[in-house]
Order: sequence, then C-alpha cells, then structure tokens
Amino acid sequence: MRIRLDRTLCDGFGICAKHAPGYFSLDDWGYASLIGDGTVPEKDRDAVMRALLDCPVHAIIYMGEHRPSDDTAVHQEAHEVPEPEPRTDGNEAISGFVR
Ligand code: SF4
Repeated sequence: MRIRLDRTLCDGFGICAKHAPGYFSLDDWGYASLIGDGTVPEKDRDAVMRALLDCPVHAIIYMGEHRPSDDTAVHQEAHEVPEPEPRTDGNEAISGFVR
C-alpha cells in the first residue's frame, strides 16, 4: 500500500513513530516526517495501518494499494487526455481566472 503524511496536520503526538519507527521519524519537537516514499510492503502493513488509525489528527493518509502493473495503465491514460478546448469569449474569463 501507499501512504502520505500531511505535515501541516501533524500535531507532534509521536504515536506513528512508536507504531512504525521504520516509516516515521520525529524531529526535536515531536513532529513526524515520512521515511521513504510512502510505499509500504505487506509485511509492514499492520504496523503502518495502526499508526494511521491511531494518529489523532489523521495526518497519515492512505493512498491506495501500490500495484506496479497499474502504473502502465495510468501512463497510457495520461496520453489519452483530450486537448483543452480552444479559447472562446465564453471560456476566456475562466482560463484567465485559473492562471
Ligand atoms: S501520530 Fe500523527 S500527529 Fe502524531 S506525530 Fe505522527 S503524524 Fe504527527
């Protein structure tokens, strides 16, 4: 599976590092950082899920299962994204707003 840590939510309780010290390190104030890229092999899943579920502020976010074979499909889909519509008077204001 894959996880993400939203450090803006972390309140420094340190629970994650207690449950899964291989995935979370704490700074001097107890705020967590994710070790690695968030990929969690099956053998560590329970410990990391415990950290995720016990985090009082839900700063650890489940990003789904990591399936390397699906990566190919995602890249193929990315090539199939249609071109944006040409600008017209109707959508010019919207695209100006987005920029
Ligand atoms: S358990 Fe949550 S709030 Fe506590 S240090 Fe870990 S991420 Fe931060």
